[in-house]
Amino acid sequence: MSQDLKQYDQAFMGHPKPLKGLFFTELWERFSYYGIRPLLILYMAAMIADGGLGLDRPSASAIVGLFAGLMYLMTVLGGWVADRWLGQEKAVWYGSLIIACGHISIALTALFSHFFFYFGLVLIVIGSGLFKTCISVIVGTLYKAQDTRRDAGFSIFYMGINLGSVLAPLVTGLLVKDYGWHWGFGIGGLGMLISLIIFRVMTVPQLKKFNALQGAETTWDKAVHYDKNAPKVVALFLVLVAVVVTLTSLGYLHINPVIIVKYLTVSICIAIIAYFAYLLLFANLNTTEKKKIIICFVLLMTAALFWSAFEQKPTSFNLFAQDFTNRQFLGFEIPAVWFQSVNPILIVIFAPIAAWLWMKLGKSNRDPSYISKFIIALVLAACGFGLMVLASHSVIQNHGNTVSPLWLIGAMLFLTLGELCLSPVGLSAMTKLAPNVLRGQIMGLWFTASALGNLMAGLIGGHVSADEINQLPTLFMRCVIALLIGAVILWLLRMPIRKLLDQTASTKPTPIQNSQVET
Ligand code: GLU
Ligand code: ASP
Repeated sequence: MSQDLKQYDQAFMGHPKPLKGLFFTELWERFSYYGIRPLLILYMAAMIADGGLGLDRPSASAIVGLFAGLMYLMTVLGGWVADRWLGQEKAVWYGSLIIACGHISIALTALFSHFFFYFGLVLIVIGSGLFKTCISVIVGTLYKAQDTRRDAGFSIFYMGINLGSVLAPLVTGLLVKDYGWHWGFGIGGLGMLISLIIFRVMTVPQLKKFNALQGAETTWDKAVHYDKNAPKVVALFLVLVAVVVTLTSLGYLHINPVIIVKYLTVSICIAIIAYFAYLLLFANLNTTEKKKIIICFVLLMTAALFWSAFEQKPTSFNLFAQDFTNRQFLGFEIPAVWFQSVNPILIVIFAPIAAWLWMKLGKSNRDPSYISKFIIALVLAACGFGLMVLASHSVIQNHGNTVSPLWLIGAMLFLTLGELCLSPVGLSAMTKLAPNVLRGQIMGLWFTASALGNLMAGLIGGHVSADEINQLPTLFMRCVIALLIGAVILWLLRMPIRKLLDQTASTKPTPIQNSQVET
């Protein structure tokens, strides 16, 4: 390794220099996303007299689930488009432009009709599909397969995500409180603008230099597996979206968000299973790649369960903060959405500790396997929801009056610790386990777990309200039970997966197949 390359390879906190550009690009994109997401349910469920849309809570919550769920679902198409047509970097660039247009459209709601609000959400969904997968894939490409810095690199990247997510609700919460909804939404657009400027002036040049130092081609124009039909598929998809948007806005198509979310959840589950079956049976993968794909599948399903609990943050937790949490502090009323910042603040505090821990354990070969980390994540999330059960009992005992904010903060602490064992670890695992030609798609699939989680969280999350107060403990208790069942199943699966891997390795002993696969 040349001296220049060595320096560049360790220039950002001991990691490759482009991680810096990627860190700040993602920080501002997430600022825009997490700035507007918690506003959505409150805005849509607020009375028309208060400037809101006057929707019922279950519908508003389902729309939030649908928005976030479709966003993560779009990452599959985004990953495919990047692999087959645009290449990862261009996909991020076009994605950011489309997201920025989405924010402009939402801003137009203030002047024109609600159509622009929903249309803006559609654009953000499409743009994020390109952006979110590809930026994570690019982070993965900074490290060689055996580089022990990979997990730590993703933890640093994850801190960028969460810095954006800490700041955003703090700013939007204040703006909405003092100046109204549209200021809150507008600031998200500003975040996206900063993100796309950073990407062009900092990240792309850094990536080009890194490639040049490695003697590799520039990746700006490079799709891993160019397919001349990809533009046609994209055109067809966009026409379909345009038709649905037009029919809906003209009133010919009536969308019931709750029903759509239900069908979508079931269809995605079936599609994921079918896709993995296809990969295993027909994608011409060798035995080692198949083993890795099986592990990806198990991790993915576990992640879906985890996110279905965690992603209630902008729905049920948000409503709990608004309705049942004492938010008075020294005569100041804390905006409800500020509680959204608790999780990312804790991530920023604990992510470096987790990164350090994984790296230290990794060096002495004692790093827990991916599966063990995921089991810990489920158990921690169950503890978080356990606290919410107690918090709801306390609300009932208080006859519906507000309770201490420490309940929410404690629950967030457990969820955050769980998230740290699952989310950055999962991102890193996908970039490591995915066969080269499927990199974008497997990363996209990882995000379908988030899609499923967000959809389910949208379904559950609208049921927090004063009329249904007696149902609250049951609502949260169901989550505890589901998470614990998931943890037990994963625990039982641990051994069969190990056995399967050992068997496949011993029946066809080629040097590649004998290579270790981390579970
Ligand atoms: N909170 C992380 C992010 O926004 C991960 C979310 C997820 O994978 O669902 O990037
Ligand atoms: N912790 C989440 C993620 O890492 C951020 C959030 O939900 O605020 O992006």
